[in-house]
Amino acid sequence: MRKYVITGIQGCGKGTQAKLLSEKYDLVHISVGDIFRWNVQHHTKLGARIRRIVARGELVDDEIVADIVHKRLADHDWNYGFILDGFPRNPRQAEFFLENYDIDAVINIELPDAIVMKRVLSRRLCSQCGLDYNLFFHRPEKEDTCDVCGGQLIARADDNEDAVKARIADFHAKTQPVLDIFARKELIVTVDGNQDVGLVQAELRFKLNLV
Ligand code: AMP
Repeated sequence: MRKYVITGIQGCGKGTQAKLLSEKYDLVHISVGDIFRWNVQHHTKLGARIRRIVARGELVDDEIVADIVHKRLADHDWNYGFILDGFPRNPRQAEFFLENYDIDAVINIELPDAIVMKRVLSRRLCSQCGLDYNLFFHRPEKEDTCDVCGGQLIARADDNEDAVKARIADFHAKTQPVLDIFARKELIVTVDGNQDVGLVQAELRFKLNLV
């Protein structure tokens, strides 16, 4: 059983890395952002409560987030383990988490702020199948069209300049202190996010003693 948290500034590639790691080791990839986006797209009651907050790039209330994570982990469909992506995002969430669960490591992907904006603004998502694209690293063959299902590519509502600035500020003010909490427990594994996707994955598997 492997239980990980993956963290890092927006656009550092944590979703991509979590996906690769979860596919290889049969882990359940739990992305709090994806759960929120699903709720917004499907017009659920929760979606209505959080839609504006998410679009502005602000953090959703800790109570809502803790409840989502708690319910998702209570499904117990993670026989081989899980990777929590996008949580905890502030010290209060980290404390709630550590009181209730234990983990093996926190994967921290580092990326300089200067690169974040460029990466995030070039991010696209298939509106049908959800596949990720990046206009620099992973361009679709036909403009604005998914290579796999032909769906239309769109930008996330919160991938605009103002929202990205808000998320960068939040990351430094609120998420960075979370790393200090985990560092005290010697749980952190730091990898350089400013390299090829495959190299980031190789570095993190090596540092997690998976190879
Ligand atoms: P992400 O996909 O991780 O970038 O998350 C997208 C958005 O969902 C964030 O900008 C927040 O509005 C919300 N969100 C995701 N995870 C959290 C969290 N742990 N705490 C509060 N808000 C969150």
